[in-house]
Amino acid sequence: MKLLVVEDEALTANYLHQGLSEAGFVVDLARTGLDGHHLAMTGDHDLFILDVMLPDVDGLRILKALRDAGRKTPVLFLTARDGVDDRVKGLEAGADDYLVKPFAFSELLARVRTLLRRGLAVPLAERLDVADLSIDLLRRRATRAGRRLILTAKEFALLELLLRRRGEVLPRSLIASHVWDINFDCDSNIIDVAIRRLRVKVDDGFDTKLIQTVRGMGYMLDVPDDE
Ligand code: CA
Repeated sequence: MKLLVVEDEALTANYLHQGLSEAGFVVDLARTGLDGHHLAMTGDHDLFILDVMLPDVDGLRILKALRDAGRKTPVLFLTARDGVDDRVKGLEAGADDYLVKPFAFSELLARVRTLLRRGLAVPLAERLDVADLSIDLLRRRATRAGRRLILTAKEFALLELLLRRRGEVLPRSLIASHVWDINFDCDSNIIDVAIRRLRVKVDDGFDTKLIQTVRGMGYMLDVPDDE
């Protein structure tokens, strides 16, 4: 899952970037309203976190531009303690939720996860299952046949993406942009290495291999056709 944070204050921006990355999200950061506006209109983010008070184009204008363009991406905006007007205007302009600064990171993370679940066309359960593989999205845990899989944050994010798009062939470039902070052409082997490691954890020792390679196209997670 890929988030865009638009925040001009360096401390808050870095804190959000680090915390959300550690929670397994890919985070793009914009330090000005103009950059934020551009990235929001052109990117493929799953959620935006917009600070209202920005020196150039403020968060409300970015939000209005998004909604005017018909973009329904969930928006969480950040306001100052005395910014009651901003909160009212933000919600009227189509924001999905707001947080008042200063906020606890755990609170932000909970709101982000709620909005992501709500924002998907098909409402998500708190867990995803394929065959005997299961991931708990809230606790960020994966199990296979009831046994806990020890995954890094990136591995969990990769597995989550594969499970959310079960049965869909995912090109390496899409995996790269959703799980890593990078866009690159498909010949990089970062994805292949990560898939190999994930496969060892998910499929080794099981007859049913869930992570499938689709030659020349990418990777897919599903129960194989012949079962
Ligand atoms: Ca600010």
